[in-house]
Amino acid sequence: MSNTKRAYNFNPGPGPLPLEVLEQAQAEMLDFKGTGMSVMEISHRSKEFEAVIQTAEADLRELLGIPANYKIMFLQGGATLQFTMLPMNLRATGSADYIVTGTWSKTAIKEAQKLGAARAAANTESEGFKGYPEKLDLDPKAAYLHFTSNETIHGVEYFSEPVPPAGVPLICDTSSDFISRPVDISKYAMLYAGAQKNAGPSGVTVVIIRDDMIERVPANLPVMLDYKTLAASGSLHNTPPSFAIYMVGLVFQWAKKQGGLAAIEKVNRVKADMIYKTIDESGGFYRGHAKPEARSLMNIPFRLPSEELEDAFAKEAKKNNLIGLKGHRSVGGMRASVYNAVTVEGAGELVKFMKDFQQKNG
Ligand code: PMP
Repeated sequence: MSNTKRAYNFNPGPGPLPLEVLEQAQAEMLDFKGTGMSVMEISHRSKEFEAVIQTAEADLRELLGIPANYKIMFLQGGATLQFTMLPMNLRATGSADYIVTGTWSKTAIKEAQKLGAARAAANTESEGFKGYPEKLDLDPKAAYLHFTSNETIHGVEYFSEPVPPAGVPLICDTSSDFISRPVDISKYAMLYAGAQKNAGPSGVTVVIIRDDMIERVPANLPVMLDYKTLAASGSLHNTPPSFAIYMVGLVFQWAKKQGGLAAIEKVNRVKADMIYKTIDESGGFYRGHAKPEARSLMNIPFRLPSEELEDAFAKEAKKNNLIGLKGHRSVGGMRASVYNAVTVEGAGELVKFMKDFQQKNG
Protein backbone atom coordinates (compact mmCIF):
# COMPACT_ATOMS: atom_id res chain seq x y z
CA MET A 1 0.00 0.00 0.00
CA SER A 2 2.89 2.34 0.76
CA ASN A 3 3.64 2.96 -2.94
CA THR A 4 0.03 3.69 -3.79
CA LYS A 5 -0.73 7.29 -4.61
CA ARG A 6 -3.72 8.36 -2.51
CA ALA A 7 -5.84 11.36 -3.46
CA TYR A 8 -6.66 14.21 -1.13
CA ASN A 9 -10.33 13.30 -1.19
CA PHE A 10 -12.93 16.02 -0.52
CA ASN A 11 -15.85 14.08 -1.98
CA PRO A 12 -19.25 14.64 -0.32
CA GLY A 13 -20.12 10.95 -0.12
CA PRO A 14 -19.02 8.33 -0.70
CA GLY A 15 -16.06 10.00 0.91
CA PRO A 16 -12.61 8.98 2.04
CA LEU A 17 -11.98 6.12 4.46
CA PRO A 18 -9.08 6.08 6.91
CA LEU A 19 -6.01 4.54 5.29
CA GLU A 20 -5.53 2.18 8.26
CA VAL A 21 -9.04 0.83 7.74
CA LEU A 22 -8.44 0.16 4.05
CA GLU A 23 -5.14 -1.51 4.86
CA GLN A 24 -6.74 -3.75 7.44
CA ALA A 25 -9.51 -4.73 5.03
CA GLN A 26 -6.84 -5.45 2.44
CA ALA A 27 -4.82 -7.58 4.86
CA GLU A 28 -7.89 -9.59 5.86
CA MET A 29 -9.35 -9.82 2.37
CA LEU A 30 -8.34 -13.33 1.38
CA ASP A 31 -8.48 -15.05 4.75
CA PHE A 32 -10.80 -13.51 7.32
CA LYS A 33 -9.95 -14.75 10.82
CA GLY A 34 -8.58 -18.07 9.60
CA THR A 35 -11.71 -19.01 7.65
CA GLY A 36 -9.88 -19.19 4.32
CA MET A 37 -12.57 -16.89 2.94
CA SER A 38 -13.13 -13.17 2.73
CA VAL A 39 -15.77 -11.66 5.00
CA MET A 40 -17.93 -11.33 1.86
CA GLU A 41 -17.89 -15.07 1.36
CA ILE A 42 -18.84 -16.32 4.82
CA SER A 43 -22.35 -16.98 6.06
CA HIS A 44 -24.10 -14.10 7.75
CA ARG A 45 -25.21 -16.71 10.32
CA SER A 46 -21.64 -17.86 11.06
CA LYS A 47 -20.04 -17.19 14.42
CA GLU A 48 -17.39 -15.08 12.66
CA PHE A 49 -19.99 -12.75 11.19
CA GLU A 50 -21.97 -12.71 14.40
CA ALA A 51 -18.82 -11.37 16.06
CA VAL A 52 -18.44 -8.72 13.34
CA ILE A 53 -21.94 -7.33 13.80
CA GLN A 54 -21.92 -7.57 17.58
CA THR A 55 -18.54 -5.86 17.86
CA ALA A 56 -19.64 -3.11 15.47
CA GLU A 57 -22.72 -2.52 17.59
CA ALA A 58 -20.82 -2.55 20.89
CA ASP A 59 -18.18 -0.16 19.54
CA LEU A 60 -20.82 2.26 18.27
CA ARG A 61 -22.60 2.10 21.63
CA GLU A 62 -19.34 3.02 23.33
CA LEU A 63 -18.41 5.76 20.85
CA LEU A 64 -21.75 7.57 21.00
CA GLY A 65 -22.70 6.57 24.55
CA ILE A 66 -25.89 4.89 23.36
CA PRO A 67 -27.99 3.83 26.37
CA ALA A 68 -29.23 0.24 26.75
CA ASN A 69 -32.83 1.20 25.92
CA TYR A 70 -31.90 1.98 22.31
CA LYS A 71 -31.56 -0.54 19.48
CA ILE A 72 -29.01 -0.22 16.71
CA MET A 73 -29.95 -1.46 13.26
CA PHE A 74 -27.82 -1.85 10.13
CA LEU A 75 -30.24 -1.47 7.22
CA GLN A 76 -30.20 -1.11 3.45
CA GLY A 77 -31.83 1.44 1.15
CA GLY A 78 -29.74 4.42 2.23
CA ALA A 79 -30.89 7.35 4.33
CA THR A 80 -33.40 7.90 1.53
CA LEU A 81 -35.36 4.79 2.47
CA GLN A 82 -35.52 6.12 6.04
CA PHE A 83 -37.41 9.15 4.67
CA THR A 84 -40.15 6.59 3.91
CA MET A 85 -39.75 4.06 6.72
CA LEU A 86 -39.79 6.69 9.44
CA PRO A 87 -43.30 8.02 8.79
CA MET A 88 -44.56 4.52 7.95
CA ASN A 89 -43.40 3.22 11.32
CA LEU A 90 -43.72 6.13 13.70
CA ARG A 91 -46.40 8.53 12.49
CA ALA A 92 -49.48 6.27 12.68
CA THR A 93 -52.48 8.39 11.63
CA GLY A 94 -51.11 11.65 13.02
CA SER A 95 -49.00 14.43 11.56
CA ALA A 96 -45.25 14.89 11.80
CA ASP A 97 -43.24 18.14 11.97
CA TYR A 98 -40.12 18.78 9.87
CA ILE A 99 -37.59 21.58 10.13
CA VAL A 100 -36.55 22.37 6.57
CA THR A 101 -33.04 23.83 6.41
CA GLY A 102 -31.72 22.47 3.10
CA THR A 103 -32.10 20.00 0.28
CA TRP A 104 -32.09 16.91 2.48
CA SER A 105 -34.73 17.97 4.98
CA LYS A 106 -36.79 19.22 2.04
CA THR A 107 -36.53 15.78 0.46
CA ALA A 108 -37.40 14.11 3.76
CA ILE A 109 -40.64 16.07 4.21
CA LYS A 110 -41.63 15.50 0.57
CA GLU A 111 -41.33 11.77 1.03
CA ALA A 112 -43.29 11.89 4.30
CA GLN A 113 -46.06 13.87 2.59
CA LYS A 114 -46.56 11.13 0.02
CA LEU A 115 -47.85 8.83 2.74
CA GLY A 116 -49.68 11.14 5.13
CA ALA A 117 -49.54 14.44 6.98
CA ALA A 118 -46.27 16.26 7.48
CA ARG A 119 -45.87 19.99 8.04
CA ALA A 120 -42.89 22.30 7.97
CA ALA A 121 -42.28 23.72 11.44
CA ALA A 122 -39.93 26.11 9.63
CA ASN A 123 -38.48 26.49 6.18
CA THR A 124 -35.42 28.62 5.42
CA GLU A 125 -35.52 28.13 1.64
CA SER A 126 -36.58 31.73 0.90
CA GLU A 127 -33.39 32.83 2.71
CA GLY A 128 -31.30 30.47 0.59
CA PHE A 129 -30.85 27.72 3.19
CA LYS A 130 -28.05 29.60 4.94
CA GLY A 131 -28.76 29.06 8.61
CA TYR A 132 -31.15 28.09 11.35
CA PRO A 133 -34.79 29.18 11.32
CA GLU A 134 -35.46 32.16 13.56
CA LYS A 135 -38.45 30.47 15.12
CA LEU A 136 -40.28 27.18 14.99
CA ASP A 137 -44.02 26.75 14.60
CA LEU A 138 -44.34 23.49 16.49
CA ASP A 139 -47.34 21.17 16.64
CA PRO A 140 -47.64 20.01 20.28
CA LYS A 141 -49.41 16.88 19.04
CA ALA A 142 -46.90 15.98 16.31
CA ALA A 143 -45.97 12.30 16.01
CA TYR A 144 -42.35 13.49 15.97
CA LEU A 145 -40.13 16.46 15.13
CA HIS A 146 -37.56 15.73 12.41
CA PHE A 147 -34.46 17.75 11.63
CA THR A 148 -31.28 17.28 9.60
CA SER A 149 -28.27 17.90 11.82
CA ASN A 150 -26.01 18.62 8.86
CA GLU A 151 -27.25 19.76 5.48
CA THR A 152 -24.62 18.23 3.22
CA ILE A 153 -25.28 20.49 0.22
CA HIS A 154 -25.78 23.83 1.99
CA GLY A 155 -23.21 23.29 4.73
CA VAL A 156 -25.56 24.17 7.59
CA GLU A 157 -24.99 22.20 10.78
CA TYR A 158 -26.83 22.20 14.10
CA PHE A 159 -24.51 22.20 17.12
CA SER A 160 -27.35 22.04 19.61
CA GLU A 161 -30.63 20.28 19.06
CA PRO A 162 -33.92 22.02 18.36
CA VAL A 163 -36.23 21.49 21.32
CA PRO A 164 -39.55 19.75 20.56
CA PRO A 165 -42.69 20.32 22.64
CA ALA A 166 -42.94 18.07 25.73
CA GLY A 167 -43.70 14.50 24.73
CA VAL A 168 -42.87 14.97 21.02
CA PRO A 169 -40.02 12.63 20.00
CA LEU A 170 -37.00 14.23 18.32
CA ILE A 171 -35.71 12.46 15.20
CA CYS A 172 -32.58 13.30 13.28
CA ASP A 173 -31.06 12.61 9.88
CA THR A 174 -27.39 12.67 10.87
CA SER A 175 -26.06 11.20 7.62
CA SER A 176 -23.28 13.68 7.06
CA ASP A 177 -22.13 14.46 10.61
CA PHE A 178 -22.52 10.99 12.12
CA ILE A 179 -19.66 10.13 14.53
CA SER A 180 -17.94 13.45 13.77
CA ARG A 181 -18.44 14.71 17.35
CA PRO A 182 -20.12 13.63 20.59
CA VAL A 183 -23.92 13.77 20.73
CA ASP A 184 -26.27 13.40 23.70
CA ILE A 185 -28.30 10.45 22.41
CA SER A 186 -30.79 10.68 25.27
CA LYS A 187 -32.27 13.80 23.61
CA TYR A 188 -33.30 11.71 20.61
CA ALA A 189 -35.98 9.12 19.96
CA MET A 190 -34.24 8.08 16.76
CA LEU A 191 -31.24 8.97 14.59
CA TYR A 192 -30.28 7.60 11.21
CA ALA A 193 -27.31 7.93 8.90
CA GLY A 194 -26.17 6.53 5.59
CA ALA A 195 -22.66 5.24 6.31
CA GLN A 196 -20.88 6.55 3.25
CA LYS A 197 -19.61 9.87 4.62
CA ASN A 198 -17.92 9.32 7.98
CA ALA A 199 -18.59 5.70 8.77
CA GLY A 200 -17.88 3.41 5.86
CA PRO A 201 -18.88 2.48 2.35
CA SER A 202 -22.35 2.98 0.92
CA GLY A 203 -24.80 0.12 1.26
CA VAL A 204 -25.53 0.31 4.95
CA THR A 205 -27.59 2.77 6.95
CA VAL A 206 -27.29 2.96 10.71
CA VAL A 207 -30.53 3.49 12.65
CA ILE A 208 -30.48 4.13 16.39
CA ILE A 209 -33.94 3.93 17.91
CA ARG A 210 -35.37 4.09 21.44
CA ASP A 211 -37.30 1.01 22.49
CA ASP A 212 -40.60 2.82 23.17
CA MET A 213 -40.64 4.04 19.55
CA ILE A 214 -40.58 0.47 18.33
CA GLU A 215 -43.77 -0.14 20.29
CA ARG A 216 -45.52 2.39 18.02
CA VAL A 217 -44.89 0.42 14.84
CA PRO A 218 -48.21 -0.56 13.25
CA ALA A 219 -48.95 -4.22 12.53
CA ASN A 220 -48.59 -5.71 9.07
CA LEU A 221 -45.99 -3.43 7.52
CA PRO A 222 -44.02 -5.06 4.70
CA VAL A 223 -41.38 -6.96 6.57
CA MET A 224 -38.29 -5.17 5.21
CA LEU A 225 -39.88 -1.83 6.13
CA ASP A 226 -40.82 -2.83 9.66
CA TYR A 227 -38.58 -1.52 12.46
CA LYS A 228 -40.07 -4.01 14.90
CA THR A 229 -39.05 -7.06 12.88
CA LEU A 230 -35.69 -5.61 11.87
CA ALA A 231 -34.78 -4.61 15.43
CA ALA A 232 -35.89 -7.95 16.88
CA SER A 233 -33.74 -9.83 14.38
CA GLY A 234 -30.59 -7.87 15.23
CA SER A 235 -30.33 -6.66 11.59
CA LEU A 236 -30.36 -10.29 10.46
CA HIS A 237 -33.91 -10.80 9.26
CA ASN A 238 -32.52 -11.39 5.79
CA THR A 239 -28.99 -11.37 4.35
CA PRO A 240 -27.50 -8.07 5.52
CA PRO A 241 -24.91 -5.99 3.61
CA SER A 242 -22.18 -7.94 5.35
CA PHE A 243 -19.10 -6.35 3.78
CA ALA A 244 -20.41 -2.83 4.45
CA ILE A 245 -21.18 -3.76 8.08
CA TYR A 246 -17.67 -5.18 8.43
CA MET A 247 -16.22 -1.93 7.09
CA VAL A 248 -18.25 0.32 9.41
CA GLY A 249 -17.08 -1.91 12.24
CA LEU A 250 -13.47 -1.24 11.27
CA VAL A 251 -14.19 2.50 11.12
CA PHE A 252 -15.73 2.42 14.62
CA GLN A 253 -12.57 0.68 15.90
CA TRP A 254 -10.45 3.30 14.17
CA ALA A 255 -12.54 6.07 15.77
CA LYS A 256 -12.00 4.54 19.20
CA LYS A 257 -8.26 4.42 18.54
CA GLN A 258 -8.27 8.14 17.72
CA GLY A 259 -9.48 8.74 21.29
CA GLY A 260 -13.22 8.70 20.60
CA LEU A 261 -15.54 11.38 19.32
CA ALA A 262 -14.31 14.26 21.51
CA ALA A 263 -10.82 13.77 20.06
CA ILE A 264 -12.23 13.44 16.54
CA GLU A 265 -14.24 16.64 16.96
CA LYS A 266 -11.08 18.52 17.95
CA VAL A 267 -9.37 17.49 14.73
CA ASN A 268 -12.49 18.26 12.70
CA ARG A 269 -12.59 21.76 14.20
CA VAL A 270 -8.94 22.35 13.33
CA LYS A 271 -9.53 21.33 9.71
CA ALA A 272 -12.74 23.35 9.27
CA ASP A 273 -11.23 26.43 10.98
CA MET A 274 -8.27 26.35 8.60
CA ILE A 275 -10.56 26.44 5.58
CA TYR A 276 -13.07 28.99 6.93
CA LYS A 277 -10.17 31.24 7.93
CA THR A 278 -8.84 31.07 4.39
CA ILE A 279 -12.28 32.04 3.07
CA ASP A 280 -12.67 34.88 5.60
CA GLU A 281 -9.21 36.28 4.98
CA SER A 282 -9.51 36.22 1.20
CA GLY A 283 -10.97 39.75 1.03
CA GLY A 284 -14.11 38.46 -0.70
CA PHE A 285 -12.37 36.31 -3.32
CA TYR A 286 -13.84 33.24 -1.64
CA ARG A 287 -17.37 33.58 -0.26
CA GLY A 288 -18.83 30.99 2.09
CA HIS A 289 -22.49 29.98 1.84
CA ALA A 290 -23.68 29.40 5.42
CA LYS A 291 -24.01 32.06 8.12
CA PRO A 292 -21.01 31.91 10.48
CA GLU A 293 -22.89 30.42 13.47
CA ALA A 294 -24.33 27.60 11.33
CA ARG A 295 -21.16 26.74 9.43
CA SER A 296 -20.77 23.01 9.04
CA LEU A 297 -17.59 21.30 10.20
CA MET A 298 -18.16 18.65 7.52
CA ASN A 299 -19.20 20.37 4.29
CA ILE A 300 -17.89 23.79 3.31
CA PRO A 301 -19.54 25.26 0.21
CA PHE A 302 -17.96 28.43 -1.20
CA ARG A 303 -18.06 30.55 -4.31
CA LEU A 304 -15.41 32.33 -6.35
CA PRO A 305 -15.86 35.64 -8.23
CA SER A 306 -17.01 33.94 -11.47
CA GLU A 307 -18.10 30.57 -12.82
CA GLU A 308 -15.04 30.58 -15.10
CA LEU A 309 -12.79 30.87 -12.06
CA GLU A 310 -14.77 28.12 -10.34
CA ASP A 311 -14.23 25.79 -13.30
CA ALA A 312 -10.55 26.66 -13.35
CA PHE A 313 -10.32 26.08 -9.60
CA ALA A 314 -11.80 22.58 -9.87
CA LYS A 315 -9.53 21.67 -12.80
CA GLU A 316 -6.36 23.03 -11.20
CA ALA A 317 -7.21 21.41 -7.88
CA LYS A 318 -7.58 18.04 -9.58
CA LYS A 319 -4.16 18.45 -11.18
CA ASN A 320 -2.84 18.97 -7.65
CA ASN A 321 -4.44 15.71 -6.47
CA LEU A 322 -7.23 17.57 -4.61
CA ILE A 323 -10.37 15.69 -5.60
CA GLY A 324 -14.14 16.17 -5.23
CA LEU A 325 -14.27 19.94 -4.76
CA LYS A 326 -16.98 20.83 -7.24
CA GLY A 327 -20.09 22.03 -5.41
CA HIS A 328 -23.60 20.69 -5.82
CA ARG A 329 -25.33 22.18 -8.87
CA SER A 330 -28.10 23.68 -6.70
CA VAL A 331 -25.66 25.90 -4.78
CA GLY A 332 -22.96 26.16 -7.44
CA GLY A 333 -19.32 26.89 -6.83
CA MET A 334 -17.13 24.66 -4.75
CA ARG A 335 -17.66 22.43 -1.74
CA ALA A 336 -14.94 20.96 0.44
CA SER A 337 -16.19 17.97 2.41
CA VAL A 338 -13.85 17.35 5.29
CA TYR A 339 -15.10 14.15 6.86
CA ASN A 340 -13.29 12.31 9.67
CA ALA A 341 -10.87 10.56 7.30
CA VAL A 342 -9.61 13.83 5.78
CA THR A 343 -6.35 14.54 7.56
CA VAL A 344 -5.12 17.89 8.86
CA GLU A 345 -2.38 17.53 6.27
CA GLY A 346 -5.02 17.15 3.54
CA ALA A 347 -6.88 20.24 4.74
CA GLY A 348 -3.52 22.04 4.76
CA GLU A 349 -2.91 21.08 1.13
CA LEU A 350 -6.29 22.53 0.20
CA VAL A 351 -5.60 25.76 2.08
CA LYS A 352 -2.21 26.09 0.35
CA PHE A 353 -3.88 25.56 -3.00
CA MET A 354 -6.65 28.09 -2.25
CA LYS A 355 -4.13 30.78 -1.31
CA ASP A 356 -1.98 30.05 -4.32
CA PHE A 357 -4.99 30.08 -6.66
CA GLN A 358 -6.12 33.43 -5.29
CA GLN A 359 -2.68 34.91 -5.69
CA LYS A 360 -2.59 33.87 -9.34
CA ASN A 361 -6.18 34.82 -10.16
CA GLY A 362 -7.28 37.40 -7.62
N1 PMP B 1 -29.53 12.87 4.12
C1 PMP B 1 -28.38 13.56 4.03
C2 PMP B 1 -28.08 14.62 5.02
C3 PMP B 1 -27.49 13.26 2.98
O1 PMP B 1 -26.34 13.94 2.87
C4 PMP B 1 -27.80 12.23 2.07
C5 PMP B 1 -26.86 11.82 0.96
N2 PMP B 1 -26.01 12.73 0.48
C6 PMP B 1 -29.01 11.56 2.21
C7 PMP B 1 -29.84 11.89 3.26
C8 PMP B 1 -29.40 10.47 1.27
O2 PMP B 1 -28.63 9.38 1.59
P1 PMP B 1 -28.54 8.02 0.76
O3 PMP B 1 -27.83 8.35 -0.50
O4 PMP B 1 -27.79 7.13 1.68
O5 PMP B 1 -29.93 7.57 0.52
